[in-house]
Amino acid sequence: MNIVIVGGGLAAAKAAAELREGGHAGSLVILAGEEHLPYERPPLSKGLLLGEAEPDSDTVHDQQWYVDHEVDLRTGTTADSIDLDSGTVRAGADVLPFDRLLLATGSRPRHLPLADRSGAPVAYLRTLEDSRALKEHFGAGRRLVIIGGGWIGLEVAAAARAADTEVTVVESLDLPLLRVLGPEVAQHFADLHRAHGVDLRLSAEVAGIDGDGTVHLADGAALGSDLVVVGVGVEPVDDLARQAGLDVDNGVLVNELLRASDPRVFAAGDVANHRHPLLGRRIRVEHWDTAIEQGRHAARVMLGLDEAYERLPYFFTDQYDLGMEYVGSVGPEGYTEVRVEGDPASGAFRAYWLRDGLVVAGMHVNDWDATDEIRSRVGTRA
Ligand code: NAP
Repeated sequence: MNIVIVGGGLAAAKAAAELREGGHAGSLVILAGEEHLPYERPPLSKGLLLGEAEPDSDTVHDQQWYVDHEVDLRTGTTADSIDLDSGTVRAGADVLPFDRLLLATGSRPRHLPLADRSGAPVAYLRTLEDSRALKEHFGAGRRLVIIGGGWIGLEVAAAARAADTEVTVVESLDLPLLRVLGPEVAQHFADLHRAHGVDLRLSAEVAGIDGDGTVHLADGAALGSDLVVVGVGVEPVDDLARQAGLDVDNGVLVNELLRASDPRVFAAGDVANHRHPLLGRRIRVEHWDTAIEQGRHAARVMLGLDEAYERLPYFFTDQYDLGMEYVGSVGPEGYTEVRVEGDPASGAFRAYWLRDGLVVAGMHVNDWDATDEIRSRVGTRA
C-alpha cells in the first residue's frame, strides 16, 4: 500500500509514526512545504519568544528517525495537485501514486489588507522564521501594536511584555478571547494583561495605518508603533482538496472516522472539518492536541480501525504566570450558565460552561490536577 501525506506539520509527523508502529510496510511519503523537519508550533508564541525554549526542542522526530523508519520526507516540497481518478499527487515533476492520502495542510494566517498595503513594518506569526524575526523586535523602548486579541495576540503580548516592550492590543470585540470564553472568564484575561501593562483597546476598529507604523483607530486614537503584529485568525489550507473535487466547506469535510468524501482520502488537524459524534455537529479545531490525535487516528483508520474520532477539543495557554487548560467546546448554541470554582483573584480556579444542565466545556487556571476531572465532567450532567 502506498501512502502519501500532504503537509509537513505535527499531524503529518504523528500520522507517519502511527503508520509505522501500526505495521504499515509500504511506501510512505511526506510532502512538507516548509524547509524544516516537522515541528510543533506552541513554542513559537511562548517559549521561543520568551527565549526559554531549547533549540530544536520543538522538532517532532529528528532526521535519523525518518531514515530509520523509511519515511520519504520531502521538505521544501509542496503538492501541486491531486488527481483522484488516477490516485496520484503531483509535486513538481514527480507524480506519486497513493492508495491512502492524508491531507494535513494546516491553516494560514488571515491577512489584513489594510496592514499589508500600509508600508509599515507588519508581522504575522505562523512559522519558526516568523517567531525568530518577531523576537528581534522585543525590548525596552520598542513599541508593538498587536491587532487581534486572540491566542496569538495575547501570547505575543505576554512574551513582549516580559522583555519590557511597550504593547498595545487592538481587539474588535468587547473583550479578548470573548468568542471562546464568554464575558465572565474573558474579563480575567483582560485584567491580567492590563495588570502587566498592556494597553488594551477593546471594541476597537482599525481605521488606517500609516507607513511610519501609526495605527489609527475609528475613535480617533493614534497609536505609534515600531511593528504591527497581526493575529486576526487563520483560514484552512483546503485549496488542493477543493481543486481535486473533494467536499470542502471551511476545511476538508470528513466523517466521524476522519475520512473525506473520497474514501481513500483523510484529513487531520487545522484543515479537517470533522463530524464529531459526541458534540453532534461539525467542528474544525485549530489547536495542537487535535493535530496530534487526529493525525494518529487517521493513520489507524487507514490501517483498518473502524472507530470514530471522539476526543474532545483540548487546548492550553501560558501567559505571564497564568497557565490554563480547556476541554470541550461551547459551540454555536452557546451556554446558559458559567460556574466558577475557586477564587479567580487567588490566581487559581476552575470554570465550567453549562447548557441546560449539561457541561459543554471546562477549564482550569493554574490548577494542574484538575484536567482529568474536567475531561470527565464535560459531556455529562455531573
Ligand atoms: P484567533 O484566536 O481566532 O483570534 C483572532 C482575534 O482577532 C479574534 O478575537 C478576532 O475577533 C480578532 N479580530 C479579527 N479581525 C480583527 C480586526 N480587524 N481588528 C481587531 N481584531 C480582530 O486567531 P489568532 O490569535 O490569529 O491565532 C491563529 C491560530 O493559532 C488560531 O487557530 C489559534 O487557535 C492558534 N493558536 C493557538 C494557541 C493556543 O492554543 N494556545 C496559541 C497561538 C495560536 P473576531 O472573533 O470578531 O473575528
